[in-house]
Amino acid sequence: MTPLLITIDTEPDLPRRRQASAGTLNNIPALLELQRRIPDIKLTLLVTHSVISDPTSLKVLEQLKRDYQCEIGAHLHPEETPPFIRGVPDETSLMRLPLEARAEKLRVLTRAISAHFPRPISYRAGRWKLSPEDLALLAEHGYRADSSVTPYVSWRIEHGPDFAAAPRDPHLVTGALWEVPVSIGLNRAEWLGRSRLLRNYLQLCSLELLGLPGPIKSAWSLVRPIRPVWLRPTYSSAEAMLRLAEQLLARSPGGVLNMMFHSNELAAGGRPFIRTRADADRIMTRVVDTCRYLLDSRRVTSTTLGDYVVQRSALNVER
Ligand SMILES: [Zn+2]
Repeated sequence: MTPLLITIDTEPDLPRRRQASAGTLNNIPALLELQRRIPDIKLTLLVTHSVISDPTSLKVLEQLKRDYQCEIGAHLHPEETPPFIRGVPDETSLMRLPLEARAEKLRVLTRAISAHFPRPISYRAGRWKLSPEDLALLAEHGYRADSSVTPYVSWRIEHGPDFAAAPRDPHLVTGALWEVPVSIGLNRAEWLGRSRLLRNYLQLCSLELLGLPGPIKSAWSLVRPIRPVWLRPTYSSAEAMLRLAEQLLARSPGGVLNMMFHSNELAAGGRPFIRTRADADRIMTRVVDTCRYLLDSRRVTSTTLGDYVVQRSALNVER
């Protein structure tokens, strides 16, 4: 049975592009609505510091944990996780902070989650800003799974990491820490594999443009004959996600399907491109339809990111 992971960055509303969040958390209850539509799916909620510190959101998380056995992991956004270097919110990129500052924020976030739930073992960096040194830091803090890697996608244009040639399958990275990349394929030309040509191209052309006017998005698609296809409902239709899932199942039968999205993509006003109730419902329905088909019609089983790596580690030991 192939494990299906639904890893959700659980964070504040972000209604405007390139502006700091107002810090509202109106989107969090939408997770309950999603869970009620797919009660047999075990969600992995990677939560930020402001979410875990908000009593109303905490109640929602506790209900999800109690009634549906979700996993609560960590999602580190430096701008909202103390301590702040100059006493004001830090900038949004983890990679522009010194390692000691990142370590301190990780410690605070881990402690905040541990006050209410089992100590978190799953992690995703805010805005994908994972530095290689962070892996040892995560292992040190008891984390067992990182899911900050996006194969075929380079964030270099945004001064982030370059994952264009990163391995696609889960693997042990350091100590007991596994990397479990988000499931991403290419719309074509996967045979180019790790070639320098493809890598150079993806460094420039792998990012999606959301929240921009339709004609600009269409032009961007036209100039990109090869593009990443994400198991992510904000980028891909249910049909596209199922096509990708079939490709991945055929390619590595012992692999894993790791769908990701943000909690604020499930509620109207949560993101610049999720303005109305209909926008939010479209995203939620894509998740529900994809999960339903995979669970009911394919040899796929729902599990959390943490449970998956714990089981994988046990198998490795047995061998
Ligand atoms: Zn985030």
